[in-house]
Formats: sequence, structure tokens, C-alpha cells
Amino acid sequence: MTDRQGIGIVRSGPDLVKYTTAALVHQRSRATDIHHVTSSPPPVSLQPRSWSWTRTLLILAIAAITTRCATAPRPSPQPPVRPPSDTLTLRVEVADGDDRRIQTIRLEDYVRGTVPAEMPLAEPDAAVAERLARLQAILARTYALAHRGRHAHQGFDLCATTHCQVYRPPDRQPAAVARLVAAAVDRTRGLIISDGNGPIQALFHADCGGHTSSASAVWGGSAPAYLAGVRDSFCLTTPRDDWRLALDRDHLRRILNTTSDTAVGRHLDQIAVLTRDPAGRATRVSVTGEKHVVVRGERLRAVINRQLGPRAFRSARFSVEQQADRVLFSGQGFGHGVGLCQTGAIVQARHGESVAAILAHYYPGTWLAPHPAAAVQPATVERRHRPRLTRR
Ligand SMILES: [Zn+2]
Ligand SMILES: [Zn+2]
Repeated sequence: MTDRQGIGIVRSGPDLVKYTTAALVHQRSRATDIHHVTSSPPPVSLQPRSWSWTRTLLILAIAAITTRCATAPRPSPQPPVRPPSDTLTLRVEVADGDDRRIQTIRLEDYVRGTVPAEMPLAEPDAAVAERLARLQAILARTYALAHRGRHAHQGFDLCATTHCQVYRPPDRQPAAVARLVAAAVDRTRGLIISDGNGPIQALFHADCGGHTSSASAVWGGSAPAYLAGVRDSFCLTTPRDDWRLALDRDHLRRILNTTSDTAVGRHLDQIAVLTRDPAGRATRVSVTGEKHVVVRGERLRAVINRQLGPRAFRSARFSVEQQADRVLFSGQGFGHGVGLCQTGAIVQARHGESVAAILAHYYPGTWLAPHPAAAVQPATVERRHRPRLTRR
């Protein structure tokens, strides 16, 4: 509630000043008119007829002014000031079967549709479920604000898949889930994770396998300090779901040939991990065939999953074994491994850890804050993304 009130105060200040100024101007003009009329003596004339006309005009003028002032519209009361996150909208590409269309969704409604799609909430302890719903609401809101316009070149802000965040319309949620999520969204309304420069890139994944990774190690380039990677002993306390993927060598070759940076040509001879980051994720992988290429582990995962689905090659924390006609991958964790580990966060929530403490563990150097109004003007979204429907 604190953040909600805070935003209300920020927004209501200028509006209050505007209202007060308008009322004063109105009162002042009314007083000036009356003073002018009553203090001006009628012109003196030696001709009674002319004096009579002037007096008539004066009476009519007083009547007109009095009538105008009496019926002049008073400033109407301002509507309740709403926090910026209530008025901000996102353009989201939503799939309904094979039909894909762009919907304009208010930010907080988008968060309501994202929370249960991205976080398992079926906890036996209601307090834990409530904590996890609040945690995911803050994550979803922060992620959406930081990644608005990710699909600007396609005419919308965010897709509704794991590429951005999974979103499903809130009106399709079971009643108990809908109540839980609505309460969590309301309690965190407008709240984001900040490093002092607005919403952070609140990346998250299912299971880090014991250590999150630096964003720069996984994707290259520079990364903010809060995405440098942390040790996570919490997810390791849950039953492990290590994964294996065995692929026929020729099948794997055809998959690798679907994109230029992993293409090996007419035969595939060997795949070997060259380097790993401190979390154990493969950062450079050698792929040798008719051609030889070196790719990031996360890139190899993405190319294979594009053909086989997101649950096939679950993480870049893997080992590879060469067999005669096939290649066997085995690994730990699920997801890219950057930012918050949801499995570890669930364990911490079950231990009674607060939402703020859990977020601070995975995004060190950040804190919770109401998002700044200046950064979320709806007009910015509307200008950047022209409304149009797409079907693909
Ligand atoms: Zn996307
Ligand atoms: Zn973890």
C-alpha cells in the first residue's frame, strides 16, 4: 500500500495545483467584473433621452454579467488520480489457437495474466502461495517495463510465449487462482525492482542447477552488475530433475544446418565443450563436421530447441558424449540460468523468506521501488507501436 499511496501523492500534486489555480482565476475574474460595473459612474449627459439609453444599457450589462457569473460552469471535480501502472498499456501478441492478434492490455491486467502462467502457485501453505504470487507479480511488471518494445519491429511490445513472458487472459483463470493473483497484483501495484535507473532487466528462469550465470557469459556483451551470477544452494535442496537428450547424429546435423552459425555441412564428426563459466555453463562449444564452427552453449541450446521444443535441451550446463551413431547430451537445470532461479525462490519462500530478500539475493544491489511516472507515459508506447492486427 505504501507504493500505491506514494504514487498517488506524486500524481495528485500537479492536478491539485491546477484545480486550485482554475478556481482562483474564476473567482478573481468574477470579482473584477462586478467591481468594474459597480464602481463606474454612469456618464452624465444634459440630454435626458441619451441618459436614459445609457442607463438602460448599463442595466442590461449588469443583468448579463450577473447571469453569466451565476451560470458559469464550476470546475468539475477531478477524477480520482490513478497510479501510472493503471493507465499504462502494452501491446501484446496473444495466441488463440492458430490465431494470433495484438491486444492492447493495461499493465496491471497483463501482470495478472502472466503470474500464474509463469509461476507454479499450487502450494499447500496459502501464505507461501501468496508470497510467490507477489514475487512473480513484481518480476512480471519489472520485466514488462524493462522490455517494452522488444517486438517493436513487428508492431507490438511483448509476445505471450517464453520468449518474453507467458501470458494467458486472466478471465480464463480458475476462481481461486484469480483471487490469489488479483490480491497479489493489487498489493504490489506499481512496484518494481530498481537499481536506481528504473526497472531492471528482471530475467528469470526455472532452475539454475546450483549457480546462476552472468548475462555476458551466456549471451556475450556487457551486463549490468545485478546480472553477474550468484551461488544458489536453495534449488539444490529439491529433488533434482537432471535431463538427458540423445540425438541421432544425422538428425542433429540437419538441425545444426538450419542456421548459418551452426551449419556443419554434409557430415557431423564431433561436438566438444571448450570453455565453461564459473557456474558450469558451456560458453564455447566446438562443432566439427565438413565445416568447423565455435558457438556459445546457449546458442546451441536455442538452435536445437527451435526444432525440438523448449523442454528438449534444457540448459547450457551440459556434458556431451559421442557415440557411434548418436550424440548424448546430459545436464542440470532448466533455462538460460541468468537472474532469478524460480526453483530456488520457491524454496526460500517455503522457508519464510520475504519477497524483498529473495529478489535481493538473485539481483544483488537492487531494491523495490514504485516505478517513476516519467518513465511510463502511455503516449510513448502508442507512438512507438502503431496499432495493427497481424496474423501469422
Ligand atoms: Zn517475445
Ligand atoms: Zn537455482
